[in-house]
Amino acid sequence: MSADCIFCKITKAEIPSKKIFEDNEVIVFHDIHPIAPVHFLIVPKLHIESLASAEPSHQALLGKMLLLAPKLAVEQGLKGFRTMINTGREGGQEVFHIHIHVFGGGANLPKT
Ligand code: 5GP
Ligand code: ZN
Repeated sequence: MSADCIFCKITKAEIPSKKIFEDNEVIVFHDIHPIAPVHFLIVPKLHIESLASAEPSHQALLGKMLLLAPKLAVEQGLKGFRTMINTGREGGQEVFHIHIHVFGGGANLPKT
């Protein structure tokens, strides 16, 4: 837990979110500013700042988060989707609590 962290506050329901999945380790909710018709965030309840500060002890948790992506994407009606993990300010990260973006549902995601 990090006192000022917005995603820690969401995991504790101190800030509301449009939640689509939760268990003891992970919470998943819709992004407040979606960049595609479906856009959700897979967030561990453990406060890890970014992929750059993840450690070997987090391996199982990170694997679990990744495997949730296709399961929840199907539940959200997606036939395909894109994942994204922004890391560090120069990587476009704005919330410093690790999360996987999952988005899709648009006719044309840009090629990268
Ligand atoms: P980042 O840029 O760190 O990879 O992504 C942070 C994401 O969190 C952004 O897409 C932003 O829209 C989303 N976000 C920021 N604050 C909130 C919030 O309070 N609730 C929800 N649901 N999403 C948020
Ligand atoms: Zn946090």
